[in-house]
Amino acid sequence: MKVFITGGAGFIGSHLSKALLDQGHDVLVLDDLSTGSMQNLEALQGREGFDYRIGCVTDVPLVTELVDRCDTTVHLAAAVGVRLIVEKPVHTIETNVRGTEVVLGAAAKKQKLVVIASTSEVYGKSKAVPFRETDDLTMGPTSHSRWAYACSKALDEWLGLAYYREKGVPVVICRFFNTVGPGQTGRYGMVLPTFARQALAGDPITVFGSGEQSRCFGHVQDTVEALIRLIQTPEAVGQVFNIGTDEEVTIRRLAERVKAAAGSSSEIVTIPYDEAYAEGFEDMLRRVPSADKLEATVGFRPRTPLETTIADVLEHERARLARA
Ligand code: UDP
Repeated sequence: MKVFITGGAGFIGSHLSKALLDQGHDVLVLDDLSTGSMQNLEALQGREGFDYRIGCVTDVPLVTELVDRCDTTVHLAAAVGVRLIVEKPVHTIETNVRGTEVVLGAAAKKQKLVVIASTSEVYGKSKAVPFRETDDLTMGPTSHSRWAYACSKALDEWLGLAYYREKGVPVVICRFFNTVGPGQTGRYGMVLPTFARQALAGDPITVFGSGEQSRCFGHVQDTVEALIRLIQTPEAVGQVFNIGTDEEVTIRRLAERVKAAAGSSSEIVTIPYDEAYAEGFEDMLRRVPSADKLEATVGFRPRTPLETTIADVLEHERARLARA
């Protein structure tokens, strides 16, 4: 099969590209390198069946041509990372909504399968963990930029499901929970690569808020496995799936575990949200997925223990430091 991956030079996209190539599939990547990087593509260049274009997911003729050349599209291109969302809300909303419109419009011409990346952020402030795909979404007010990301992704979901129901386009929606692993940049605020770099450098490890907020960190390898299975499962079409692990950890405990695993003497410091992000920033206190539907549909759920994931990230960061 030939898979078109928008945002293929990003963290998840480049891991997905590699896994598909390893399984003998062809991959065509489109990325504007806004948050993705050439470095992620370098490892794939020269591999048989791999090709890429640098360009924007809102470029209608380009996207139409690339969707047409492939069997399936995985639409990962988006404005991501909480820091970016808070700093550039216009860019976030426009990129996320317009990009998905363009991809779905192109796929509709020939009824091609599209997998749309959504996010656990759409559950918003809900406290009803574990989150299930049929749960209500509890967004915050429009005065807080953070929720622009969740709403833009929720609109992508509505649009994807509307194309499925009204136009018969095969669409699968994936809600990614915190996905981490080797190669993720901390530049856009992601916590695990940030803690790993701070711990290895001996710098203060910056816990935002009380540190009592918790997350479930899934290994990117598991995310990619789930995605590839979903692409190959016809029953997944027209449905929404959580992709994540249910091993929950508070951010303070994560800082302690990264520090210990790195053998670091870094101090763990607490920074108020207002200072870390923006005045009045609202965080999600808990975010735990139910992966029951995913497992029932594709026979797999993310299970890599956090200990292994932390070790993988630290190993990657140590190698990066050694190269630098
Ligand atoms: N966080 C933190 N220190 C950092 C970066 C993030 O304490 O240097 C916190 C952040 O406030 C959130 C959690 O870690 O509560 C996860 O943040 P991330 O940006 O990785 O993902 P999110 O779950 O917010 O999408």
